[in-house]
Amino acid sequence: MRPVRASCAMALLSMMVAAPVAQVESPSPASTADDPRLVRLKGEAAATVDEMATFTQQMVDQIFSFGELGFQELETHRYLVDVLRKNGFAVEEGIAGIPTAFMASWGSGKPVISLGSDIDGIPQASQKPGVAYHAPLIDGAPGHGEGHNSGQAVNITAAIAVKRIMEREGLPGTIRIWPGTAEELVGTKAYFVREGLFKDVDVALFSHVASSFGVSWGERNNMTGLVSVLYSFVGRTAHSAGNPSRGRSALDAVELMNIGWNYRREHLPLEHRSHYVVVDGGDQPNVVPRTASVWYYFRETTFEKIKELWSLGDTMAQAAAMMTGTELQPTRVLGSAWPQHFNRPVAEATFANIQAVGMPEWSEADQTLARALQKELGSETQGLTGKVPEALDGPARDNRGGGSDDIGDVSWNVPTVTLRFPSNIPGLPGHNWADAIAMATPIAHKGATAGAKVQAMTLLDLLLKPALIESAWTYFRDEQTRTIKYEPLIRQQDRPAIEMNKDLMEKYRPEMRKHYYDPSRYKTYLEQLGIEYPTVR
Ligand SMILES: [Zn+2]
Repeated sequence: MRPVRASCAMALLSMMVAAPVAQVESPSPASTADDPRLVRLKGEAAATVDEMATFTQQMVDQIFSFGELGFQELETHRYLVDVLRKNGFAVEEGIAGIPTAFMASWGSGKPVISLGSDIDGIPQASQKPGVAYHAPLIDGAPGHGEGHNSGQAVNITAAIAVKRIMEREGLPGTIRIWPGTAEELVGTKAYFVREGLFKDVDVALFSHVASSFGVSWGERNNMTGLVSVLYSFVGRTAHSAGNPSRGRSALDAVELMNIGWNYRREHLPLEHRSHYVVVDGGDQPNVVPRTASVWYYFRETTFEKIKELWSLGDTMAQAAAMMTGTELQPTRVLGSAWPQHFNRPVAEATFANIQAVGMPEWSEADQTLARALQKELGSETQGLTGKVPEALDGPARDNRGGGSDDIGDVSWNVPTVTLRFPSNIPGLPGHNWADAIAMATPIAHKGATAGAKVQAMTLLDLLLKPALIESAWTYFRDEQTRTIKYEPLIRQQDRPAIEMNKDLMEKYRPEMRKHYYDPSRYKTYLEQLGIEYPTVR
């Protein structure tokens, strides 16, 4: 399906619907220098964030120790809701029909600034922090092998620091905080949008762990959007040896679909990404499999191309059913993500704050851990990043494809940027135990504190410079969404896949619970685990 090309009348209408803030045009206010009051308040916010370093560290370590998979973030949810309520936020739980999603709110009136960050972990990523080789806490268990334990600490610390200033100065405005629940399944943000949770929001500030400081505007480079689809087939059982001609194998359909897809792969655009896992491959060899299912991610760089890939997947599945005399069941969309597009004026403001904050000071121990892990993995032993980037990242010019994040859906509904903060080590594989190693160490703690400073300063920009919000909406209306209009990838009948990962978490949670961080007894999680920092070969 083609993205909708808006007519002039429609563009006007969407302007009226989309922009909750005054519509006066003004020349590039983001670039004008801050007035002395804003400079002073930013300095104060950064100093408060420094004072809150222990609070930030405890959040990073606590969520790391929960290590929960998407839709099963029960402990993380309970913990964050508690922290937010204790700090004066009103919290609505179970938003958009998702038990582990919440919307926290503090303040009143305009502007409404929405702070989001992901919270879920990665299968098989259990790992002792601060140890520069594979050393699972619990073999086979999930863990924070992406670093999603750190982003809420960034946002909440920043929000509390700014809230203090707003209270004292009597600044109007509303701060919202929400979790990117089940981001690894790209499972919730399109439902948040469908639920109307961003309707009155002026700007969304997202934060995500990285190994350097960064922010970008326009189409995100080397990234994709995706749709995640479950294909289930039904055949009939028979004795696999005694009466094979009576059976129809659903597993055959899964295998033929995959073979078809893998032959076609050669003739797909190079930037596309597609992968699958077989989630049901039958019961036992002597019973012809009556049911079988395969779960695909179809990734591409535009909405239109994602829909084309998805349609091709449907064709493969229907053909496989025909070949095998089985039935294809109605497909289930388990997740979706629009390609990301970030707001130029807000990215410029964020970038100026990154330059003002600068990189954390890494200790020799931090660098030793980083280099040892890089050596262990056969990566370049560059250590940790020492400098902030010199220039702001612009739109993708030659997008070669890559991962996705369902913040893309938010970014097409309200001016949005993602702040990437330096809490991890460069040169790691991603979605791996190695990516968990730094995530409950001083590297993650210092990176989260630096990230919180930037987030707090950008919040102050948005609260004190109405012209910045105006120009954010001008960019959103007149450039970003001038010709492309958001249309969800989730269909009317789709619902959040909240049952996902339940069995896995139930299997590992009893063991994992023994290792939950107890900040009342230990200063850090490293101390609780008795790990010498760094531990290297
Ligand atoms: Zn992520």
